[in-house]
This record gives sequence, C-alpha cells and structure tokens, in this order.
Amino acid sequence: MKPDLRSLSRDKLEQYILSLGEKPFRARQIETWLWQKNCTDFDQMSDLPKSLRQKIAEDYSIHIIQVDQIQRSADGTIKNAVRLRDGLVVESVLIPTDRRITACISSQVGCSLDCRFCATARLKRMRNLDAQEIFDQVVAIREQARLYFDRQLTNIVYMGMGEPLLNYSNVIRSIEKITSSDGLGMSARRITLSTVGIAKMIKTLADDNPGVRLAVSLHSAIDEVRSRIMPINQSNDLCTLTEALEYWYARTKSRITFEYVVWKNINDRDEDIRALVKLCKRLPAKVNLIEYNAIGDPNFEQAEPHRIEAYKNALEDIGVIAKIRRSRGKDIDAACGQLANKNDVAFETLQKSKTDSF
Ligand code: SAH
Repeated sequence: MKPDLRSLSRDKLEQYILSLGEKPFRARQIETWLWQKNCTDFDQMSDLPKSLRQKIAEDYSIHIIQVDQIQRSADGTIKNAVRLRDGLVVESVLIPTDRRITACISSQVGCSLDCRFCATARLKRMRNLDAQEIFDQVVAIREQARLYFDRQLTNIVYMGMGEPLLNYSNVIRSIEKITSSDGLGMSARRITLSTVGIAKMIKTLADDNPGVRLAVSLHSAIDEVRSRIMPINQSNDLCTLTEALEYWYARTKSRITFEYVVWKNINDRDEDIRALVKLCKRLPAKVNLIEYNAIGDPNFEQAEPHRIEAYKNALEDIGVIAKIRRSRGKDIDAACGQLANKNDVAFETLQKSKTDSF
C-alpha cells in the first residue's frame, strides 16, 4: 500500500515536492487540497499540472476513512462505524443539541486502560490512530451535520475510543489540522480532550498548550476507590494527578472539567463527596455528573438520584458548577463508555476473550 500523502509533515512534503523539481509553493497548494478542501483524489487538485498529479500518485495515495455503517438514535444522535486503512474499525458519534453539534471522536483502536466500568476497555488496544484518521472522523461528522441537520459542527470532544494522551503526537497533529486556517479553521476552545489523567502527559500538553479544553475522567477523589475502578490510578495516583492539573491551570488558565459517575456502594458515601469537594477547593474545576450507562456488570449500578443531588449540592455550596448530565444515544450504544464495536460491521476479532474482560 502506498503511504498516505497526509502522513508527511509540511517540511517533508516540501522536500518531496522539491525533489520532483517543482517550486515550494506547490507544497502549500497541496496542503490546502489535503486539509482544507478535503480532497480524496489527486485528480481533484485542479490547480496542479497534470504531470505533477500523476507523479505524486505514483508515490502516494490518500486513504480517507470509510463510514461503513451509520446508526441513528431516537434522540437524533448518530453513531458511525469507521473503517480504517487496514480494515480495523472505530466508532465516532455526532451529538445534536439545541445549541451545539458535537463530534465525539476516537483516538485509538480499542483501549489499554481497563477502566472497570467501560465497554471500550473490553477491546484490546490494537493501535493508535494516525492524525489523518482522527481528522477524517471530524470531516465525516461535519458533513453529516450539514446533510442531516443543515447545521454547522460546533464542538469536538476526544471522548470516543482510546486514551488521547497515549497517542499524543497524532492527537496534537490532528488538533493542529482541525484548528489551522489551512485546515478546518475551527476554534481550539471548542475542542475538549478527555483523559483518564496521565499526569506526565497533562504537563506536556500544558507546555505545548494547543488552546484546547481539558476534561479528566475522575470518578473518585479517593485513591483506594479510584485504583479499584481505574487501574491507571495505581501508577498515577491522585496526588500526582492533582499536581499535574495545578500545573495545567497555572500554564493555561483554563478550568478543568471533571467527568464523574456516581455508583451505588462505590462512590456514593458522604466521605466520597467530601473528598471531591476538597479537591475542587484546591483546583478550579467544573464537574459533570454523568449518567452511568450499564454495560452488563452487576458490580456497577447507578447511585440513587438523591446521592447524585447530594454531590451537586455540596459542590454548589462551595461555588463549583456541577451539572447532572443525561446520556445521549443510549439506544444505539453510542453513549459514554458504550463504544465497543458491537454492531455487525465492527465486530471483527477485536473482542478479548471472556476471561480477559472483567
Ligand atoms: N480515555 C479517555 C477518553 C474516553 S472518554 C477518558 O477516559 O477520559 C469516555 C468517557 O466516558 C470517560 O469520561 C469515561 O470515564 C466515561 N465512561 C466510561 N464508561 C462509562 C459508562 N459505562 N457510563 C458512563 N460513562 C462512562
């Protein structure tokens, strides 16, 4: 298979164009075709000489992702099964609300983190997505927003399959292409990167500061509880995470969002609430109390509504914005934590053996 021309950095593309005896401005033209006009075939590059188009096509191709299956939820949410260049499949979701159209995109095929409550964790991590594969999911959803809703895509969340901070350079490159004026030209403030909380990479992201918002899947502010439900916490504990988040805030002045599910007999005690309140006193944060989407494990059950209210009240008492969020797209397994390639197209051999799962 010929390499994707989009895998070349701008410098490398320019070197390649020069090696063909062409002028550097051709590289700029090509970049615009690739990232702004989302061209799928070299023949569409109408301002390039035909001979040049042919030469490029001998060395490179353009592998656009293919949306193999589209499912629509009763609430309007759309889930895509996205086939990648090597046949592997990830999922991406379009979430419409009154004010926004949000694209929820994947950054890895499967996931290595093993969060106990997440369906994606049941899929082996197969590989990282390339920057262009991440980018293409946004382009596809942008088209769907126009086609099905006659609206613009407004927001992007890296909350699909995988851990974006474990595919750092490709995620950063995708953000650059989504935000660049030579690319999709979207505002970085409308992009949220969600992480399980890899402290070291949060600091790197703070240093690079691409202007995006940061969400952290917290789920508990007590080490012992968090380590049980999110194994990453065993090597990357709350103290290390908090320190990294303080660093993030100092560098970016951007308030963190904590994603938080409240489960019965896991994190619905008063002391769980107190621990989160204490953390939020230390860090400027906003809390999304998200609905649990059951994935068939009897150990996890959504807490009673009054316990979720208790969280909200305790947080609001100290001036922290806390929102109780209902899930979207549950009927098509498109909600948080449900992306698991369950449909026919996507099933593949991705599922781990039963013993691996829980
Ligand atoms: N790996 C990144 C990106 C995935 S985002 C991260 O963890 O942030 C997916 C979000 O859905 C995370 O906040 C995750 O904690 C949450 N989630 C996972 N399983 C869930 C479930 N069954 N119900 C509700 N939310 C879930």
